[in-house]
Amino acid sequence: VKAKIAVNGYGTIGKRVADAVRAQDDMEVVGISKTKPNYEAAVAHQLGYDIYAPAANLEAFEKAGMPAAGTVEEMVEKADLVVDCTPGGIGEKNKPMYEKAGVKAIWQGGEKHSLTGFSFNAICNYEKAVGRDLVRVVSCNTTALCRAIYPIDKELGVKKARVILARRATDPNDVKKGPINAIVPDPIKLPSHHGPDVKSVLPQINITSAALKIPTTLMHVHTVNMEVEKDCTVDDVKNIFGSQPRIRFVGQGMSSTAEIMEFARDMKRPRNDMWENCIWPESITVGDKELYFFQAVHQESIVVPENVDAIRAMMELESDGAKSIEKTNKAIGLSK
Ligand code: NAD
Repeated sequence: VKAKIAVNGYGTIGKRVADAVRAQDDMEVVGISKTKPNYEAAVAHQLGYDIYAPAANLEAFEKAGMPAAGTVEEMVEKADLVVDCTPGGIGEKNKPMYEKAGVKAIWQGGEKHSLTGFSFNAICNYEKAVGRDLVRVVSCNTTALCRAIYPIDKELGVKKARVILARRATDPNDVKKGPINAIVPDPIKLPSHHGPDVKSVLPQINITSAALKIPTTLMHVHTVNMEVEKDCTVDDVKNIFGSQPRIRFVGQGMSSTAEIMEFARDMKRPRNDMWENCIWPESITVGDKELYFFQAVHQESIVVPENVDAIRAMMELESDGAKSIEKTNKAIGLSK
């Protein structure tokens, strides 16, 4: 029998998680929830997902010609595990509903670590998530940093990591937020939360960060600097990154996030998703036990395979993280 998964909140992350779960052979989507019968709900309906909605809005779905299968509470009752993809800060309010139904739950990076007491990244701590009831999958930026820092720490020992993040201002579908003509140090008070959030997964890492919001919607770009314990060469670092299942080297004329997104479109990735960290191998610079590189991060999709792996661990469908990562990658079409 397949694990029964509900996706509460079908926005940027939720719609991608639903499709990625559907692509696996050991789990299935029992329902997705939408608050309103908008265009995204219409597509979910077309894709054959059972849509659930808040009780007060059921009539609106009926009127819009896409009758809901029931209330959000009813969806939760049908599931073994709920992936909460509601906006940051909203998700925590759903905890009592999940507890009442006795279901396992995953939240996203917009929620605090303390909500679940366990923050997840597949490469770093899959095994510790096995059998857990409550897990937080860390944010897009934290996911990318964990994937890059963990293997370097394992092979070379990270003494300290310093990160500058150029963050996309908002997602491509968002018409409400800016900036459209400014660079915003965000937050001005340092450090930003991004680097320190890595410690929720890798407490041993000495890391701080600063972040700037810039007028783009495509991707984030990180400038990463690490001081390491062992002497190493550029090739050593390339070999470490090259062996990682969710790190892709970008080159071949891809000198910007715009070209990486075009590449994802050309590869016919769903929604032009780039699930991997995109590292420019030419940027990898090493000297005096210190290394630097640039990586681009597709915020809309990077956490999607991690959600699938978190489900597999929590539902005890696979005890080996490397095997789950391979299975997830293959099913969604992530091949390097
Ligand atoms: P989103 O706004 O695109 O989607 C949220 C969805 O939840 C929307 O469909 C909204 O209608 C719905 N919703 C709102 N209130 C609800 C409620 N009370 N009950 C059920 N559904 C409700 O948000 P998102 O970007 O997908 O973010 C979801 C989570 O993922 C947040 O924690 C965020 O921090 C995290 N995250 C976002 C990104 C990103 O770049 N977009 C990356 C990584 C992690």
